[in-house]
Amino acid sequence: MAKEHVWPLPWSVRVRDVLVADVGTHVMSQTPRLEMIVDSLDGAARAGFVRTQRGSFAVPCFMPVGTRGVVRSLSVSDLESLGIEVMLANTYHLALRPGVDIVEEMGGIHGFTGWSGHVLTDSGGFQAYSLPSKIDEDGITFKSVYDGSAFRMTPESAVDAQERLGSDIQMVLDVCPALPASSAVIWEAVQTTLGWAERSLNAHSSSSQAIFGIVQGGIDVDARSCSAKRTAEMGFDGYGIGGLSVGEDRADMLRALEATLSELPDDRPRYLMGVGDPVGLIEAVALGVDMFDCVIPTRLARHGTVLTSSGRMSLRNAKFAKDPRPLDESCVCSTCVSSSRAYLRHLLLVSEPTVLRLLTVHNLVWMMLLMRSAREAIRSGTYDAMRAEIASVWRGSSRARTVA
Ligand SMILES: [Zn+2]
Repeated sequence: MAKEHVWPLPWSVRVRDVLVADVGTHVMSQTPRLEMIVDSLDGAARAGFVRTQRGSFAVPCFMPVGTRGVVRSLSVSDLESLGIEVMLANTYHLALRPGVDIVEEMGGIHGFTGWSGHVLTDSGGFQAYSLPSKIDEDGITFKSVYDGSAFRMTPESAVDAQERLGSDIQMVLDVCPALPASSAVIWEAVQTTLGWAERSLNAHSSSSQAIFGIVQGGIDVDARSCSAKRTAEMGFDGYGIGGLSVGEDRADMLRALEATLSELPDDRPRYLMGVGDPVGLIEAVALGVDMFDCVIPTRLARHGTVLTSSGRMSLRNAKFAKDPRPLDESCVCSTCVSSSRAYLRHLLLVSEPTVLRLLTVHNLVWMMLLMRSAREAIRSGTYDAMRAEIASVWRGSSRARTVA
């Protein structure tokens, strides 16, 4: 009789052991909403844990984007097997489909999806930047991407929706201007976001769900510094850094980031929103950022591009047609253990849906291993060497070089 597979499969046990060996996940009944535990510093880079009412997760960390309550092409069991500890979901999208009422009735985002790890919900501020919408002093009126109807969100309704969705970490509603922007636009976004942050805190009543403020200010270091200082004075559980990676140069981004971080308290997590390219991420960790999210690894996978220790690789290239090697010879993911570049390229070219899952698994494991390496390097005092290695492989363009 064939031996039955038991979940998690052997490879996933191995990956998970590798990825979460430095984490002790357990719920502490007396813990505050959120604690930041820094156990190692290397320069300004820090490694440690964020502890919430749900448990703890290691930082620096990368959080895959599950906008609609799912990381596209993966199951929640996949996420667990890959050692992922925090999934991002989006309040705007979940509020429109299936609606907050349904998610709440089904036990919140965890009961609804079956995911027992952490969930961080973005509020919808970024959707005002990327989707049709109108911002006024009191809130944002969106045009639904599903049926064109008007959908109104205020700082208070964003908090209420996130409480009912049951996320572990909420984000305040913010105003994220597209760059380049005039000084007037940048400062107005800072002022509006500060006012909304205060209203969000007043509306927040949950003793178990943490809430993060968001720093804005474009690439204007004075605006960044003012936004960070005044947001920090409000005393949030943690701080998002929004409005970056929206078209600016990396040097400008890092200057704005430095101005922000110098005003944020050391004992709270710092989350750089929407940045996930390897160089940007490693440089931001060097400045003291703890948390990241980005669509890059999942979106690239859907386009047949994979992240490897030698750089990015487009599987559509004809030179891989007879290549028996795995995507990355140093990778331990299930895709690399079982599939050749030639086979994956074939699946991609004939548009077999399975390939999306296989490539997404690889790219996410690659990101999780990158973050684990960063934590190890910080703990062993070798972060500068890791930073130099990543830069030598990936610098050249913000999108990194393609494997030769
Ligand atoms: Zn792999």
